[in-house]
Amino acid sequence: MAKSYDAIIIGGGHNALTCAAYLAKAGQRVLVLERRHVVGGATITEEIYPGFKYSACSYVVSLLRPWIVRDLELPKHGYEVIPLEQTFTPFPDGRYLLRDADADSTRRSIAQFSKRDAEVYPLFGNAMSELGRQVKPIIDQPPPDPTSLDPREIFKLAGLGRHIGGHGETWTSAHIKMLTMSAVDFLSEWFESEQLIAPMAVSGIIGTFLGVRSPGTAYVLLHHYMGEIDGSFRSWGLSKGGTGQIANAIARSAQSFGAEIRTEASVERVLIERDCAVGVVLENGEEIRSTRVISGVDPHRTFLGLVGTEHLDSEFATQVTRFKMRGSSGKVNLALDGLPDFKCLPGHGRHLYGDITLAPDIDTLERAYDDAKYGEFSKTPFCDMVIPSLSDPSVAPPGKHVMSIFVQYAPYKLKEGPQDWENQREAFGDAVIDRIAEFAPNIRDLILHRHVLTPWDLEKTYGLTEGNIFHGELSLEQLAFMRPVPGWARYRTPVRDLWMCGSGTHPGGGVMGSPGAMCAKTMLGVK
Ligand SMILES: Cc1cc2nc3c(=O)[nH]c(=O)nc-3n(C[C@H](O)[C@H](O)[C@H](O)COP(=O)(O)OP(=O)(O)OC[C@H]3O[C@@H](n4cnc5c(N)ncnc54)[C@H](O)[C@@H]3O)c2cc1C
Repeated sequence: MAKSYDAIIIGGGHNALTCAAYLAKAGQRVLVLERRHVVGGATITEEIYPGFKYSACSYVVSLLRPWIVRDLELPKHGYEVIPLEQTFTPFPDGRYLLRDADADSTRRSIAQFSKRDAEVYPLFGNAMSELGRQVKPIIDQPPPDPTSLDPREIFKLAGLGRHIGGHGETWTSAHIKMLTMSAVDFLSEWFESEQLIAPMAVSGIIGTFLGVRSPGTAYVLLHHYMGEIDGSFRSWGLSKGGTGQIANAIARSAQSFGAEIRTEASVERVLIERDCAVGVVLENGEEIRSTRVISGVDPHRTFLGLVGTEHLDSEFATQVTRFKMRGSSGKVNLALDGLPDFKCLPGHGRHLYGDITLAPDIDTLERAYDDAKYGEFSKTPFCDMVIPSLSDPSVAPPGKHVMSIFVQYAPYKLKEGPQDWENQREAFGDAVIDRIAEFAPNIRDLILHRHVLTPWDLEKTYGLTEGNIFHGELSLEQLAFMRPVPGWARYRTPVRDLWMCGSGTHPGGGVMGSPGAMCAKTMLGVK
């Protein structure tokens, strides 16, 4: 008789693997099914050219919850983070901004643009850390349901209200501003120099189809301030061996608890009998049964694809259809023969070891969004770059380097249609390299290999619908008790015994692990 499982998890992304690890640790028989030859989803290291290990999609880490790292003993399974301490922003006028762990040198760098901003900068950092701490209880537990009359829910909601509102009027208004303002407006309440506001504002547009001046982007800014590494709040880092090592560590942890993982096992549909999920059918026709099915893929793919609208209430199906995916990002991964030389700061100093941000001014960022609004990729895009091989030589051959370039905007829906990315992919790659060459002219001569990922590729290769990097935008109407659909935000779905554990559920995208862990905990009935 075919083996049956307590839970089948669709997709081998880091959230699915986290969910599997928690369930297996609790003694459940768990099977993870991943359609690709490798697990990790968007948390992946790929050696596309021999010797060069790309963090093909996600490239910096901070959001992975520390309690998950501890619970799953990830360091024992190979998880290691190298701190990323600098952010370097070159400007066309030959100046640059370098913010790093050294408070004095950061202050001096900011002071060339505004002495006042240099003084305010550490205060802003402290305020964001405090805001992040205040919302932490929200990201570390399933969202409360404000429509429920269950006294436990009302109590929970009141507790959260007290927690967030209990810090006084100033903090409450700061939270409201974060939820409603644009990143630029929010930052402009603190700072006056554009050279500081522009590179800081870009954290508010990552993964969204919004511009730095669009209301709601201040929240995405906060989302990127909520991380911590080894107890150090707001810090970011690089995963040793590439971000795929995070997924691999979680996979090893899950396997150590007894979970089974199958790759090249694409699920075609969820098996539903009498309105209840009872297993899955693979693309090769194989049928596997389980007591529960958990989807680690995005809400569109889960409900409109694997379940099918015929099994859904039409109102629910409409709400899922309305859930905004709208990919806006692309990625260019380079194999380099040496290091880029920036006109404003020649040489190979510490500025190359951190995050390199091409965000010279607010108008340029906003115009980059204008291009996307009308179905074109940006000709002067925002680029966020890291050269991981500088701090982690294991990812490139000796003397060579890998460079990871996150790019916005690259709209999924080109005006000629998304499939036209097949024709425009290389032009998009050229636009990115041209933009970098304005600041570091030697980049072209260094390129050994170029790997361009458009939103179309993110969909086709990594299974991200419309190339949305977060399984759905992190906009206010798609967060907390509304993610992915009001009334179904706590990992349960209207199909009995079908659960959700991916980034399309609370608290959203990023290499966080929370959706996966909280889905498992909710299923197990533990906190
Ligand atoms: C270009 C890019 C850059 C990013 N940069 C960062 C960053 O620097 N830092 C950060 O924190 N986050 C970043 N992110 C976001 C982050 O990587 C994602 O939010 C996160 O990895 C999603 O994890 P997940 O487990 O929820 O889903 P996914 O990683 O999307 O995993 C879903 C898995 O399901 C599989 N699958 C799909 N359909 C099926 C099927 N029918 N059958 C079986 N398997 C299926 C897919 O192949 C995939 O492996 C980035 C994302 C992208 C795309």
